[in-house]
Amino acid sequence: MSKSFQSPSGMHDVFGEQYDYFEKIREVFSRMATTYGFEGIEIPIMENAKVFSRGVGEHTDIIEKEMYAFKTKGGDQVALRPEGTAGIVRAYIEHNLYTKSQPIKFFYFAPFFRYERPQAGRYRQFWQFGLETIGKGGPVVDAQIIAVMYNVLRELGIKDLMIEINSMGESKCREDFEKVLKKYLRKESSSLCADCKRRMKKNPLRVLDCKRCIKVKESAPQIVDHICPKCREDFKKVLEYLEELKIPYDLNSFLVRGLDYYTNTVYEFFAPGEEGRLALGGGGRYDGLAKLLGGEETPATGAAMGVERTVLLMKNDGIKVEKEKPKIFIAQLSDLAKRKCLKLFEEFREAKIPVSESFGQDSLKGQMSKANKMKVDYTLIIGEEEAAEDRVIVRDMESGQQESLSTKEVVKEIKKKLK
Ligand code: AMP
Repeated sequence: MSKSFQSPSGMHDVFGEQYDYFEKIREVFSRMATTYGFEGIEIPIMENAKVFSRGVGEHTDIIEKEMYAFKTKGGDQVALRPEGTAGIVRAYIEHNLYTKSQPIKFFYFAPFFRYERPQAGRYRQFWQFGLETIGKGGPVVDAQIIAVMYNVLRELGIKDLMIEINSMGESKCREDFEKVLKKYLRKESSSLCADCKRRMKKNPLRVLDCKRCIKVKESAPQIVDHICPKCREDFKKVLEYLEELKIPYDLNSFLVRGLDYYTNTVYEFFAPGEEGRLALGGGGRYDGLAKLLGGEETPATGAAMGVERTVLLMKNDGIKVEKEKPKIFIAQLSDLAKRKCLKLFEEFREAKIPVSESFGQDSLKGQMSKANKMKVDYTLIIGEEEAAEDRVIVRDMESGQQESLSTKEVVKEIKKKLK
């Protein structure tokens, strides 16, 4: 077949085995999130572009370089969501959710869009699963969100998780620290890379997670030494809760995360990958975000993990996902048989016995080979003769023995055999 079209660069079709991994992650995550009292939320994949430029920050890479922003035919400036939090806080304010019992706890599993250079593990459309707790709650909620994510990844079979954690202090601490850092960076500016020379003026914290300016970072002032006693106390509490839950962590005073809205506790999850460690996701507190979006200062905290990275790790670690295997295959020969088989399929489905078929195929050989590949316990065959007599041949796939049963009793009989 000639291939005239391909999916857009950096965007992938998800099917087959990859889809099964997605489904497994979605199932474990939504079950776990629900257990901890989170409710699902779906928001539009695009927003007024200002939701992101104000929330995430005008001078972040995501907004400056990576956002898919465009004008609609009606003249609205919109953007495909590059992350989940800003849109959810927009929804929280828009629907007056602050008038409900607080906090509001949401979970999501959704696609996001960033115009990045496509490479292994980095796409232009990628999926994240995330949690947000908005409206109430201090350090214990940060620890709980870390615990939920940790438990999800562990239940998926991922071992050797590492969590790096830091505190950026509240907005005031952060602003004060930015001044101290700027002063230091100005002194060292001749040793900074070109990107950091630019960042130094508008977003100096980003210099701290630059992979090239290691030397400058080594003697840079550390944010935890500059936060106020209340922020330090809150951070200490988060660490104590994690210790209580026996969740391992490492302090990383350079961890700032890329977005403007983070305050206080921030963290990232890593696991050993094939080529060095792999960042799975991260999160943090964002008490100032609701205000940036026109609401009031609201305590809030959340985290998001990359789905494709989680799949990659599961595959690297040899973690398989098991799908429910059909126990029965229904094979047919002739038009009348097809009709009877369609009905029989429904009867098995209603009896909750996993069943499979290949009704589009006419050759019995082809159907039997499919049944063999699926490793079903029994294949039910209806040919022309059986269809006329309302009977069905039941073949035990292990012993090869066959018997003829009436279509009326076959579901009941198979149920007995499967017990
Ligand atoms: P971030 O929102 O940038 O902190 O990203 C959180 C997680 O989402 C990362 O650790 C990755 O697992 C995943 N992620 C972010 N950007 C991409 C991308 N372009 N392609 C694939 N996964 C991504």
